[in-house]
Amino acid sequence: MTGTFADHSGDSPAWTPIAEEAFTAARVLHPKEKLPRPVRRRIMTVANQKGGVGKTTSTVNLAAALALHGLKVLVIDLDPQGNASTALGIEHRSGTPSVYEILIGEISLLDAVKTSDQSPNLLCVPATIDLAGAEIELVSMVARESRLKEALTEQALNELGVDYVFIDCPPSLGLLTVNALVAAQEVLIPIQCEYYALEGLGQLLNNIELVRAHLNPSLSLTTILLTMYDGRTKLADQVAEEVRSHFGEVVLRTIIPRSVKVSEAPGFGQTVLAYDPGSRGSMSYLDAARELAERGARENR
Ligand code: ATP
Ligand code: MG
Repeated sequence: MTGTFADHSGDSPAWTPIAEEAFTAARVLHPKEKLPRPVRRRIMTVANQKGGVGKTTSTVNLAAALALHGLKVLVIDLDPQGNASTALGIEHRSGTPSVYEILIGEISLLDAVKTSDQSPNLLCVPATIDLAGAEIELVSMVARESRLKEALTEQALNELGVDYVFIDCPPSLGLLTVNALVAAQEVLIPIQCEYYALEGLGQLLNNIELVRAHLNPSLSLTTILLTMYDGRTKLADQVAEEVRSHFGEVVLRTIIPRSVKVSEAPGFGQTVLAYDPGSRGSMSYLDAARELAERGARENR
């Protein structure tokens, strides 16, 4: 360290907190560290029918962290709210080519893929409000549960060269979420460190089992991420402990803290990694992404 930030007068420390944060931010934004590529392309559905638990926040920030560290990532926004598209700065006005047109078979995957200006490695298929009608429209369609899977062809994914696909689900267990579960190999469940966090989880696990039994035998719950942890409350620790004792290794060691920067970022059309790279929220999503990537690089995960 050359002490660029220090004034060298007397005993003043070489690194002020601000300088330290700037240094960390620079490291996140221009990372030398490369995260390992997975043994095989990973398609992960981010699901929890409970609303507001951090599905979208986790999807976009994990995706951004992986992309900024050398991996190619595709985010599929499967929620009519379009929050993932917003956070990645991707246009999603009604009429924009989106996942809706893909599901109803009007266009192919490649027709709707956009690149986020946050990284050339970060791709997104946006969701528009048109998707709101899809749950009903899909009911009468042929192979209604596997329309997303059909669209995610090997050929298209190879052409995009993606290592990771994340599918951000709406807060329901309807046909959109079923399509996501059929299209993926893995499920990632974000769990908020709050009271009632585990309520309804049984129903989600049941649905995963049903999809595995009838529609997608290669599906498994591989990852749980604890989010919005507030270290000041005993409750957060109790929830985290309960989840760990129940699910063991599936739970990532990294816990995402509750942080204002994380919640501010989407308002600027950004992930927290772009909005405030040196913040605690950004660093913790990077840690979680590192764990995810390291697991993915092991053959028997
Ligand atoms: P929905 O079910 O509506 O799709 P979701 O599960 O995708 O919600 P998010 O939208 O990611 O949840 O998060 C819900 C709210 O909590 C958002 O306003 C988000 O900015 C905020 N939030 C998420 N994670 C954090 C965090 N670690 N710290 C502070 N706020 C957070
Ligand atoms: Mg969401």
